[in-house]
Amino acid sequence: MRDAASTSGETTIVIGAGQAGFSFCARLRELGYLGNVILIGDEHHPPYQRPPLSKAYLLGDISLERLSLRPDEFYADQRIDLRTDSRVTGIAPGDRTVTLADGTQLGYDTLILATGSTPRLLPSSLSGELAGIYYMRSVADADAISPEFAAGRRCLVVGGGYIGLEAAAVAAKRGVEVTLIEAAERILQRVACGQTSDYFRELHRSHGVDVREGIGLRALGGKDGRVSSATLSDGTSVDVDFVIAGIGIQPNVELAQAAGLDCNNGIRVDTRCLTSDSAIMAIGDCASFPRNGGHLRLESVGHAIDHGQLAAASVMGSDETYQAKPWFWSDQYDTKLQIAGLSTGYDTIVERKGDTASRSFWYYAGNTLLAVDAMNDPRAYMVAKRLIEAGRSPPVNAVSDINLDLKELLKT
Ligand SMILES: Cc1cc2nc3c(=O)[nH]c(=O)nc-3n(C[C@H](O)[C@H](O)[C@H](O)COP(=O)(O)OP(=O)(O)OC[C@H]3O[C@@H](n4cnc5c(N)ncnc54)[C@H](O)[C@@H]3O)c2cc1C
Repeated sequence: MRDAASTSGETTIVIGAGQAGFSFCARLRELGYLGNVILIGDEHHPPYQRPPLSKAYLLGDISLERLSLRPDEFYADQRIDLRTDSRVTGIAPGDRTVTLADGTQLGYDTLILATGSTPRLLPSSLSGELAGIYYMRSVADADAISPEFAAGRRCLVVGGGYIGLEAAAVAAKRGVEVTLIEAAERILQRVACGQTSDYFRELHRSHGVDVREGIGLRALGGKDGRVSSATLSDGTSVDVDFVIAGIGIQPNVELAQAAGLDCNNGIRVDTRCLTSDSAIMAIGDCASFPRNGGHLRLESVGHAIDHGQLAAASVMGSDETYQAKPWFWSDQYDTKLQIAGLSTGYDTIVERKGDTASRSFWYYAGNTLLAVDAMNDPRAYMVAKRLIEAGRSPPVNAVSDINLDLKELLKT
C-alpha cells in the first residue's frame, strides 16, 4: 500500500455521483487519501439510493431525505468537492483533463468513471412525442410518475423484469388498474427460473394485475398529445392513461468510447478496475469486469459498493483483485425476494418450502450450488449466500428437507 502522505497534492476526479462514485470517495478518505477528491454528478441531488425509487419512495412511504446516502455536510467534512447539476462532456486522456458542460476544465491524476446506466427507451416509432410515457431511473423519474398513480387510472407496464414488476406492484397498491406485458415467454425470464416466474405471476394476478406474457407492444395511440391506447402484438388493444417502460438498461459508455477506452457491453476493466488507460478506472453499472474467463457487468447496489471500495484500495496501492459476490433484492407487495449468487448455467432447481409465505429455489449446475432466490425467507438467503461465497454446495436432498434446520448446513 502507498503511504497516505504520498497522495497529497494529487487530484482524483470521479464522474458520476451515484452509488459507486459515492462508495469510492467515502472509502478513499477512510483509507487516508490526502489529495483532492472531486465528485461530479449531473443530477440535482447529492448521491442517493435508487432501489426505493420503484418501491417505498414511489409508494409514498419514505421521503427524499431518507434516500440520501449521507447528509449534505458529509461531503465538506470529508473534503469531497461534490459538484451536482454538473455534466462532464469530454475527457482528454492525453492531457489528463475533463471538460464540463459549462466549459470548465479540470485536471486529474486519477479519473474514475462511475457513470451508471440509462433505461432503454421504447422505439420513437412507438412513443413519438406522446406525453404520459415514463421510465424509472432517477428521483426526477419517480417524482414525474407519482402523480399519475390515482385510483381507477389505467397503466400499461411494458416489461416484466424487476423494475416493471415493482412499478406494477406499487401502482396496483395505489389503486391503479395495471396491465403488464412481457415480450418473452415469461416474466423474469432473463434472470430467474420458471418457478420464480410462476411465484411472481401468481402474486401479481392475486393483486389484480393483468399479466400477459409472450406479448409485445405494436403501437401506442394518443389523444390531445397524451398516450391513450396500446395495440399489442396479439392484435388486442387496451385503453391506458399512462405507460411505464422497464425494458432494460444500457451502460453509459459514451464518454469512455469518445476517449478511446475499450468498451464492450460496458467499459472494460481489469480485476483492479483499471481501464485500457492506466490513469482511468471504471466502477459499478458502467463497468465490465473479468469473471470466470469472460467479462461480466452487474447492475446492483452490492456490486456498486464493493467495486467502488476495491477501486479506492487500488488507488492506494493495494493489489487486491475484485471477486464479485452477487446479491440482489426486490420488494413486491408483502414479498421480499432476496437473491444470492448468479444462476447462469444452472441445470437443476431445488425447491425448499418454508411456512405458507416463504419459499426458496436453489439453482444447481450438477452438484454445484450457483444461486438462490428466497421469497420471505431471510434464513435461506443468509445460509445460501454464505455457502456460495465459501464455494460450498450442500446435497440437494438436504436443501429440500424441511425438517433440517438450514443452519446445520453451515456446520458440515
Ligand atoms: C428504480 C431502480 C430500482 C433498483 N432496485 C435495486 C434493488 O432492489 N437492488 C439492487 O441491488 N439494485 C437495484 N437497482 C440497481 C442499482 O440502483 C444500481 O445498480 C446502482 O445504482 C448502480 O450504481 P452506479 O453508481 O454504477 O450508477 P448510478 O447509481 O446510476 O450513478 C451514476 C450517476 O452518474 C451520473 N452521470 C452519468 N453520466 C454523467 C456525466 N457525463 N457527468 C456527470 N454525471 C454523470 C448519472 O446521472 C448518475 O447519477 C435499482 C435501480 C433502479 C433505477
